[in-house]
This record gives sequence, structure tokens and C-alpha cells, in this order.
Amino acid sequence: MTPVPAADNGACRGEWVTLTLNHAEITMHPRFFSSQPIDTPFVELEGPEQHHLVHALRLREGAWVTLFDNSGWEFEAEVTELRRNVVRLKIVARHEVDRELPFALSLGVALPKGERQQWLVEKAVELGVTQLVPLMTERGVAQPRDKSLQRLRRWVIAAAKQCGRNRLMHVANPNTVEEFFHRAENNSILVAHPCADAVSVREAVDQLATDGNPIFLAVGPEGGFTDRELSLAHDAHRCLVNLGARVLRIETAAIFLVASVVYART
Ligand code: SAH
Repeated sequence: MTPVPAADNGACRGEWVTLTLNHAEITMHPRFFSSQPIDTPFVELEGPEQHHLVHALRLREGAWVTLFDNSGWEFEAEVTELRRNVVRLKIVARHEVDRELPFALSLGVALPKGERQQWLVEKAVELGVTQLVPLMTERGVAQPRDKSLQRLRRWVIAAAKQCGRNRLMHVANPNTVEEFFHRAENNSILVAHPCADAVSVREAVDQLATDGNPIFLAVGPEGGFTDRELSLAHDAHRCLVNLGARVLRIETAAIFLVASVVYART
């Protein structure tokens, strides 16, 4: 693999070079997540990241990789030492590269089960969702517990590694519908609900303010939102959205809504 190029705009920080490159100039190496902030010239990877590097990708000393630590920076590093259960890497350069949406996008969703949940998390990360809030709804079946939240967070890391995001989608603790609407404060919130007085998705995204204010989206459980939950959503900032004549699965509805907002606002 090719080493990081020396660039004229590089400013030396200790042993690192800081580069400002455009997306096309960045060499993509296999990506790994460091759960520790990267602020020293050497870092170590353990656990699933070490396993991925050594056992899945079979990288060896001298290999070049890209690291990110959720700070928004991206680091070029060289594998210097493979020890039992630990990989040691030397940071060679860091890049300022922003792959985030120009606004914060929060998705409140009554999570589907099993593989559909994983699919939803993966696609939400790829499309740039900033925060996922599992919704506890009156008709919801399974409520996510600590263990399943940990699993969701692992899927977020895997998806961020794959799609090049340097910030992780935040997985919030579960909220009731009321708490989620409260969390949205005065920002726009689109609530997916198939009913006669809902507006079309096109109308809904056209009405969104064009500034960089945060946007909140809510998608209900298989049984739909209850009237009581919807009554909590009737106010100036909330808009009921119809996603078409067909009843969509939770994850289809969520990704359709996210993609429509991303399309309209970027
Ligand atoms: N049985 C429910 C549908 C549940 S689908 C009913 O008829 O109301 C699961 C969730 O996906 C819904 O709560 C809603 O948020 C969203 N959804 C699915 N299809 C939709 C559509 N055509 N329009 C708007 N929202 C939809």
C-alpha cells in the first residue's frame, strides 16, 4: 500500500502531518475505529478491531490503515507491531475530512426485530443520520435493553468503517414518543403515519426550513402510532407524513423518509 503523500499544506504536529485534502485525493486504506481518542503518535487496537485487522483482513507489520476516533479526524497509520491480542500502530498523518450531513438528523423509530434491525442501523449510518433514538411505543413489542443497545452500537461502528464516516451515529437510550417530541424542542419533526390528513412526503420536505436547523423523524411500530401518541404530535412544528398508498415495513418507511430529507436538503 502507498504511504501518505507529503503535502505542501501539511503542518507538522509533533510527528504527524496534518493534511487538508479533497475527497478524491484521499487514499482509502482499510478503516478501523479507535475507542480511545487519538492524541499520541502511537495507538493500540484491541478486541474486535484487533480481531478484524489480524484475523479477518490478515494485515501484517508495515500495512497502512486508516483510523478514526469519532472526533471527525481521519488518521493514516502504519502497523508496527502485532502482539498477542494487541496491535500497535504509528500515526503518520491526519486528515480533515467531513462526510457528515450539513444538519443534524435524528431518527426516532420503534425498532423492528432481528436482521431488519441491523439493516435499518446500517442504512441509517450510510445515509448520514446523526442520532438514532429507539422509540418505546404503546403498540411496540420488544423494548431494547442494554445488551441490544450495545449490539446496535457495534453495528454503527461496522457501518461507519465501511462507509467512511468519521463520526459515529449516536444511539440514544430509548425514549417514549412524548420524550422524543420533547427532545425535538422547536425543531421540525416529521411523523410517518398513513392517514387522510397527512401530507405527502414531497410536500413535507418542501416545507422544511432551508437553514441548517436539526430535523427529527418519527416512525412507528408495526401496529402504528396510537391516537394518544399522535395527539402529542399535533402542534406547529410537527407534520404527519404519508409515504404512499402501501403500508411499508418499519425499516422501509424509516429509510424512505431519511433518504427523502437527505435528498431535499443536500
Ligand atoms: N398497521 C399500521 C402500519 C404500521 S407500519 C397502520 O396501518 O397504521 C409501521 C410504521 O411505518 C408506521 O407506524 C408508520 O410510521 C410507517 N409507515 C408505514 N407505511 C406508511 C405509509 N404508507 N405512510 C406513512 N407512514 C407509514
